[in-house]
Amino acid sequence: MQRELRLLSTDFDGTLVAHDSNPVLDPNCMRLIGELQRRGVLWAINTGRSVELLESGLLDFEFPVHPDFIVTSERDVFRPARNGKLRWEPFGDWNERCAQAHEELFNSPESILAEIIHFVNQKTGARVIYLGEGPEGLVAQSEQEMDLITRFIDRAREKQPQFHYQRNSVYLRFCHADYHKGAALAELARLIQMPREQIFAAGDHHNDLSMLDGRFAAMPACPANAIIAVKEVVRAAGGYVAQREFGAGVHEALLYFTGD
Ligand SMILES: [Mg+2]
Repeated sequence: MQRELRLLSTDFDGTLVAHDSNPVLDPNCMRLIGELQRRGVLWAINTGRSVELLESGLLDFEFPVHPDFIVTSERDVFRPARNGKLRWEPFGDWNERCAQAHEELFNSPESILAEIIHFVNQKTGARVIYLGEGPEGLVAQSEQEMDLITRFIDRAREKQPQFHYQRNSVYLRFCHADYHKGAALAELARLIQMPREQIFAAGDHHNDLSMLDGRFAAMPACPANAIIAVKEVVRAAGGYVAQREFGAGVHEALLYFTGD
């Protein structure tokens, strides 16, 4: 199936990076991404990691290719810095608007955050993660425990539908319902004037669903190790569910969509 592919949006952990495998990166996938970049395709890593954790991941796993853009914390959009010491700079005013929306959300009088934290501390063994003063998210002891917590949040957010979360296995980040990997990808696409039809996206977990449901990327894909919910969403969007895992699966999906 040959399509014109001009922007890749790939998750990092569990999609390109196979933590428990050797090698961690699939060499064919890395080579193909590099080859596509030389042909003018742009590549964004779209991850739940912060900028710092993504940078250290790229170094630790010795990535042979480098992204053109990064989307971090499931919501912030960065381009390479034009000057200064930092490698990345906010692209447009999205990150600022995003930070403001979150501040308003968490500090609003009807915020359900306190109720959620109370539940987590009283009824579960999960730990609240703080970023500076504010609670940023949670880490549960098991997937089952996180299922219990997300059920609680799903009920609580009926009172405050704008309050949402991004889940990645036993990790969860609190967020505004309007900000997620899909929305951030849409903003990047708007800034570089990239039509949805030319965007490929790949991910493996709950927090990738928003960029894999076909709304923002016409070519969604997932590796074989993706959770069932991801495979279902990719299939429903007419995307590609790979036979192979991690980077090898992304490689397979890229070949499928580029017709190489
Ligand atoms: Mg992942």
